[in-house]
Amino acid sequence: MAGVTLEQVTQRFGRQVAVAEVSLRIPDGEFWVLMGPSGCGKSTLLRTVAGLLPVQEGRLWLGERCVNQVPARERDVAMVFQNYALYPHLSVAENLAFGLKMRGVPPAVRQQRVQWVAELLGLTPLLGQKPGQLSGGQQQRVALGRAIVRSPQVFLMDEPLSNLDSRLRDQTRAELKRLHQQLKITTLYVTHDQTEAMTLAEQLVIMHQGRVQQVGTPQTLYHQPANQIVASFLGNPPMNFLPAWFLPNGPPDVTIGIRPEAIRITTPEAGMRRGQVTVVEPLGDVTLVQVQLEAVSLWVKTQTLPTVGESVGLLLPASHCYYFHPQTGQRLELKTVIG
Ligand code: ATP
Repeated sequence: MAGVTLEQVTQRFGRQVAVAEVSLRIPDGEFWVLMGPSGCGKSTLLRTVAGLLPVQEGRLWLGERCVNQVPARERDVAMVFQNYALYPHLSVAENLAFGLKMRGVPPAVRQQRVQWVAELLGLTPLLGQKPGQLSGGQQQRVALGRAIVRSPQVFLMDEPLSNLDSRLRDQTRAELKRLHQQLKITTLYVTHDQTEAMTLAEQLVIMHQGRVQQVGTPQTLYHQPANQIVASFLGNPPMNFLPAWFLPNGPPDVTIGIRPEAIRITTPEAGMRRGQVTVVEPLGDVTLVQVQLEAVSLWVKTQTLPTVGESVGLLLPASHCYYFHPQTGQRLELKTVIG
């Protein structure tokens, strides 16, 4: 197994910069997740590591080896795509063995490895079936199995669960986590899905317009976002942003951020900010409520169940507020803001 290191990697398509000066050091055996809006360069970065795109600028290392000039087939990485094309005329066992056969692995070893991976993924009863006879989740497991059977140094996964329905996605996500704990193969995983990112990532990388915005554990990024882009990307509904004049004694020239779960809805009392409820979305355990507060619309996560049109009091505790530079979006420490 091997870690993955990117040093100032920049990738362009014509004049369009898809990946800009990205430096990451992914230690051997860790599970890292790349996340960011559509078009931010996630897939380009993954395809660069796979060797499907040559490194245009910067350096890429797998373990101790700089692989800028090493072709994809010699990199010993396995990629799992969203559109996992299994060979429809081959059985599950043959699909699993195909890559090993192409690499000239002897039949006895192939069989042993296929049995091992089938056992690992619960595919043993399906080995004789054709892909057309399998459910979407089973097909996805075969696709994963095809990658695992090779025991690569690195796994690259590009939204591998996005074709599954939500229940199957939850199951397969949990399975991926268990597999990683067992195999400890360095993994770089691309997703749009916040739950996948938060639950799978040992380290989460948020990208925007080709650039890395922040790297850290999901908890760190959620609670200590480096900037407004990271703050608005994590959390559902996302963090609310307000102009500075919303806090009477607050700092003058900042954007205030507050998460929906930090705002409290109460019965309106004198001197309190009042808003009008515009949307109510009961989810069972909590309710998502949109409140119009003067010119600003806020999302609140609450245990109460207000009605649309109701006038409510809002508490925005200063201890839960974040402050951002109004132009650059960088997060400001409170002492910097006040002091
Ligand atoms: P998504 O989440 O939608 O898959 P992404 O974050 O993976 O997006 P990329 O696919 O890496 O983004 O694309 C990054 C940028 O590079 C985009 O602006 C995209 O239009 C551009 N791009 C990607 N592939 C090509 C290509 N083959 N030719 C030209 N431009 C490309």
